[in-house]
Amino acid sequence: MSEKNFNEFVEFPSVSEEMSKFEEFVQFLNSNNPSEVIDKLNLINEMEKSNKWDNKSNKSNNKDKTNTNTESNKKYITYSKNVFIPLCNWCRNVCGYCTFRNENYKLMNKNEVKEILLKGDKYGCKEALFTFGENVDENEKIREDLKKMGYSSILEYLYDLEDWCLNNTELLPHTNCGILNYEELKLLKEVNASMGLMLENSSERLFKTIAHKDSPGKEPKKRLKMIENAGKLKIPFTTGILIGIGETNEEIVKSLYDIKKLNEEYGHIQEVIIQNFRSKKGIPMEDFKEPSPLKMLKVLIVAKLILNDISIQVPPNLNSETGQLFLFAGVDDWGGVSPLTKDYVNPEAPWPEIEELRRYTEEFGYVLKERLPVYEKYINKTWLSDKVLEKILYKK
Ligand code: SF4
Repeated sequence: MSEKNFNEFVEFPSVSEEMSKFEEFVQFLNSNNPSEVIDKLNLINEMEKSNKWDNKSNKSNNKDKTNTNTESNKKYITYSKNVFIPLCNWCRNVCGYCTFRNENYKLMNKNEVKEILLKGDKYGCKEALFTFGENVDENEKIREDLKKMGYSSILEYLYDLEDWCLNNTELLPHTNCGILNYEELKLLKEVNASMGLMLENSSERLFKTIAHKDSPGKEPKKRLKMIENAGKLKIPFTTGILIGIGETNEEIVKSLYDIKKLNEEYGHIQEVIIQNFRSKKGIPMEDFKEPSPLKMLKVLIVAKLILNDISIQVPPNLNSETGQLFLFAGVDDWGGVSPLTKDYVNPEAPWPEIEELRRYTEEFGYVLKERLPVYEKYINKTWLSDKVLEKILYKK
């Protein structure tokens, strides 16, 4: 096909089209015209009806083939049944909104981790979310603790636990532990079904404000680099942005475009979390206002229109009263929901019971569906290590 014919066949937005879209989205977030919200919701609805976006037909839990392509009139909202393993709650960063970090840290021992994994296995969970603060090895006391356990670093310990998880349970590891370099990501890919890192926001200006000024790991360049490295390594990846930490609307739109750009290059972003800031007593940002439901709805609309077929996730425990209505904006994933462990990052917000989530989803006319921590389209040799792939195929 000649270049001319190819360009006629595939529509590429020009730079000026992209710029005008960018400005349109910023203007939309800035405006307080309700008819613009309704127009954009209609646009999303039309796009979904005409199947311009895949409505989960290829993202379902593998076991249930009958529920996929043949029921294209149904819209699925997915979730991952998981256990949360807060391996260590020390962190080199001090974010203005964090309640997870503790100077008097707790490093979980092997037995504690295994106990949660085995319980999760009994409850039928499929995902083991391993999380801990960034660069915990910087803390000398933690290094000593790890040494006593026979490990030279937290990643060596993590690898061992995740390998045990794969060998002894039905759960698939997903790691989210802050910035990792290329070699570290490569190592962890061997034992992870997917990995994650919130971009938070790609604004250098915001990085210097109360939210992130004491958090070297929140430098946007570092986070974008890690997400890019995950793409180069073909690691199915979860990222997201945080709303309500002092960002401008322009910075929200820019961050979403930065994620889109990385995905266009590497195709590895399986879902984007749009997370709302929650105010908590005692945090440096306790006086910050939480984003309103309307603000969240508008950001979700913009995210859907920019990111198209990447899944959009809102954490249901942080949006217990409004999350259901966000389905109007094309939200199609509830993320990890644990029947067993609390959300250690937001301990004040309990997870909804899965049955309650089902009712919530079905009342909207959609179908709740469990998924794995890795989306269907990535379950192949290109994206997964032999060990993880065999585990998934064996389970099927
Ligand atoms: S990086 Fe995460 S764990 Fe560390 S201080 Fe920030 S929010 Fe807390």
